[in-house]
Amino acid sequence: MGKLAEILSHPQEVPALVRIYLASKAATKLPKDPQLAFCYEILNNVSRSFAIVIQQLPNPLRDAICVFYLVLRGLDTVEDDMALPDSVKLPALLSFHKDIYERGFTLPCGYNHYKRLMAQFGTVVDVFLSLDPAFQLVIANITRRMGEGMAEFITKEVETVAEYDKYCHYVAGLVGIGLSQMFARSGLESPEFGAKEQLSNHMGLFLQKTNIIRDYLEDILEEPAPRMFWPRAVWSRYAAKLSDLKEPGNRQAAVQCLNHMVVDALQHLPACVQYMEGLRDRQVFRFCAIPQIMAAGTLALCYNNGAVFEGAVKMRRGQTAQVFDACSDMGDLFRWFLTFLSLLDKKVSGQVHGDDPTLQQAQALVAQHTQLCSTALAKWQASQQPASGSIAAWVRDYLLLTLAAVYAYYAFQMGTSLTGGGVPEQLRGLVDVLAAAPLLHRLLSALALLFTLRPAIFAAR
Ligand code: MG
Repeated sequence: MGKLAEILSHPQEVPALVRIYLASKAATKLPKDPQLAFCYEILNNVSRSFAIVIQQLPNPLRDAICVFYLVLRGLDTVEDDMALPDSVKLPALLSFHKDIYERGFTLPCGYNHYKRLMAQFGTVVDVFLSLDPAFQLVIANITRRMGEGMAEFITKEVETVAEYDKYCHYVAGLVGIGLSQMFARSGLESPEFGAKEQLSNHMGLFLQKTNIIRDYLEDILEEPAPRMFWPRAVWSRYAAKLSDLKEPGNRQAAVQCLNHMVVDALQHLPACVQYMEGLRDRQVFRFCAIPQIMAAGTLALCYNNGAVFEGAVKMRRGQTAQVFDACSDMGDLFRWFLTFLSLLDKKVSGQVHGDDPTLQQAQALVAQHTQLCSTALAKWQASQQPASGSIAAWVRDYLLLTLAAVYAYYAFQMGTSLTGGGVPEQLRGLVDVLAAAPLLHRLLSALALLFTLRPAIFAAR
C-alpha cells in the first residue's frame, strides 16, 4: 500500500504522524560541539527511531548512550561485513574494546552510512574519552564481552536453541545489561538496576529475536554470503536448508517454522514486563518501552504471515507514531501489549492451520500473556486513583458535586434580572450577549452535574 493510501485508510493516525514528524525534525538539530554533532548526525543516519528516543533522554545519560550505541554499531559493522576475511575480522572483534581508547582509531569496513561511521570512528573515540569514566567502563566492558561472543560465532552456525539464546545474549542481551548499568550510574534509576542481568538480558533477547525473525529474507539474501541466525534445531524440522524457506513452494512449512520462531520469542514477554515495572524515570521508561512495544507489534504481524518470506513486514508508520505518542507509563504499555495480543489471539483462534506443530503452545502463551497484562493493567489503574470508598475519594467527589451544583444554581438564575426594560440603548448589545449566554451555561452546568453524578449513576445500575 502506498504511503498516501495508508494514511487515508487510517485518518485517526494523522495527528500522531504530524507529532512524530516534528520530533524527528527536532532530533536532526545537532549539538554545537562538532564532535558530538557528528555522533548525533550519524546516529540519525543509522537508526532514526532510536535517535528520537535517545534525544528525549536527559544528559549526561543521553550522550553516553549515544556513544554506547555507536561503539556497538561499529563492532556490529565489523561482524556484519561478509567481505571481511575472518583473519581480519576475528582480531578486530577481540581488540575493539581496547581500540576505543585509541585516538584516531578507524577501520575500513561496512557499507553506506556504516562505512562513514567506521572511517570517522576517531570522532566517536574522542567523545567516548570525554564521558564520565563510570560510563566509559560500562561501554568498554560490554564491548569486550560482545566482541568475544561474536568471535565465538564467526566460524560456527547457530545449532541449538540454547546457542541461539547465547548468540542473542552476546549481541543484544549484553546491550540491555549495559544500559541497566548506565541507568543505575546516572542516578535516574535505583542502583539495583546495575545488577538486573537476567531481566535486562530478556529485554535484549525479545528485541533481537524479533529482528532475526523479521529480517529472515534480507539476511538469507546477503551478499557475498548469507547470514543465518535461525537455529538449525528449529528450521531443520521444516526444511532441508534454511534458504529453502523462502521458496514459494515451501510456504506452508516456512510459515510453520516462522510460527515456531515467534512462539520462542514470545516467551520473553513476562520478564520484559517485570523489568519495566521497576523503572521510575519517565524518559528512561519511554526509551525502554517504545522498542518493546514495537517488537510485540512486529511479532504479532509476522506470526502466520507468509509475507515475511517475500519482503519486509513492518508496522504501519501511523501506528508506530501512535506508539511514540502514547507511551508514558505501564498503563500504556499494557494497553499496547493487549492490542497486539488480541491480534495474535485472532490468528491462533482460527487462522492458523490445525496441524501447525506449535499452535497449542502459541494458544497457551497468548492466553497467559493476555491474562498477565489485563490483570496488571486493572491493578495499575486502581493504583492511579484514590480507591473508591477512601476518604480522599469521598472528599474529591463531594467537592466536585458541590462546585457543579453551585454552578448550575447560578446558571439557571442568570439572565432573568437582565431581560427587563430600563436598559440604556448603548448597553443593549452587551445585554443581548449576556442574555444568550445563560443557555450555554445551563447546558454546561447540566453536563458538569451529570459528570459528577456519573459514579453514583453507574453504581445504581
Ligand atoms: Mg550483526
